[in-house]
Amino acid sequence: MKAFQFVEWQKPGEIRDVPVPEPGPGQVLIKVGGAGACHSDLHIMEWPGGMLPWALPFTLGHENAGWVEKLGAGVSGFNVGDPVAVYGPWGCGHCYQCVQGVETYCENAATTNGGAGGGGLGLNGGMAEYMLVPSARSLVPLDTLHPREAAPYTDAALTPYHAIKRSLHKLTPRSSVVVIAVGGLGHMAVQILKAMSVAQIIAVDVAQDKLDLAKAVGADHGVLSTDPDAVAKIRELTHGRGAEVVLDFVGLEPTIALGSKILALTGDFTVVGIGMGNINWNFMALPYEVNLTSTYWGTRSELIEVLALAESGKLKGHMTYYPLDKAAEVYELLHAGKINGRAVITPNG
Ligand SMILES: [Zn+2]
Ligand SMILES: [Zn+2]
Repeated sequence: MKAFQFVEWQKPGEIRDVPVPEPGPGQVLIKVGGAGACHSDLHIMEWPGGMLPWALPFTLGHENAGWVEKLGAGVSGFNVGDPVAVYGPWGCGHCYQCVQGVETYCENAATTNGGAGGGGLGLNGGMAEYMLVPSARSLVPLDTLHPREAAPYTDAALTPYHAIKRSLHKLTPRSSVVVIAVGGLGHMAVQILKAMSVAQIIAVDVAQDKLDLAKAVGADHGVLSTDPDAVAKIRELTHGRGAEVVLDFVGLEPTIALGSKILALTGDFTVVGIGMGNINWNFMALPYEVNLTSTYWGTRSELIEVLALAESGKLKGHMTYYPLDKAAEVYELLHAGKINGRAVITPNG
């Protein structure tokens, strides 16, 4: 079968011929319906070798959904042909974090799967006709959603969902939330916020077309981050108080600097993007009792919740679908900021 693989550090991926995997005991083979192209893959492909404990090559694609193709020995609860979404972070399954469904923070991550994070993150992912899932516990049945639409929700919606849910108690009718960067994750974040809170939603981006998308999917205001008055405008929109919640989907130095200037007292500043920017902190640098945190992906139960939100029609990703042989081109477009919403690779048409 054809697979889009990451072959060499700091080189773009390429299409290669690989064997169709055979599911062993407990494993499930999925016929891939869709695999989202995520900005984090660009970071991974740009980092030098040695930053991640992963062996190359492996097939890219960590946001996956499809149909059950073949069940390994001992797997029950699923039938061939069932449409399923794949929970992407694959932990050990038995540590305290995994038992709670928080496989992103598996306590045995260093020794599970040889240190790989999941399919498309050190192990073979979904940018291929078929993909091997190591355990049926990573599968969520789909009801009305087509797998190619469901695929990006497993990360591009699950990640903001997790970040939003932990701050939901701060999003009162008096509150504001700022979404920095309206890309694949940001445009989902706006919709999740709209569905789950009454707070004022302010979108921030470097590009007007991204702000237009944010407004179309529910943002109350859009502010260009390139505007020299961006901070003042956000302060004005928040009645001088700043935002109770800031979600930074970039995480570079300039976005972190912007976020720290627009926070309200006791606000939550959540950095989701892995831009690896630093923050300068001292007692006076931020308002009192501000919480600064990073989040990574989400939990298994949150994936069930976010898929329910999409099944209900309250979350509708702005998707563009591409065949597998366009994968390299898609990452070039993503790198150039030319993907509005989410690009999804559909290896089986
Ligand atoms: Zn991702
Ligand atoms: Zn674990």
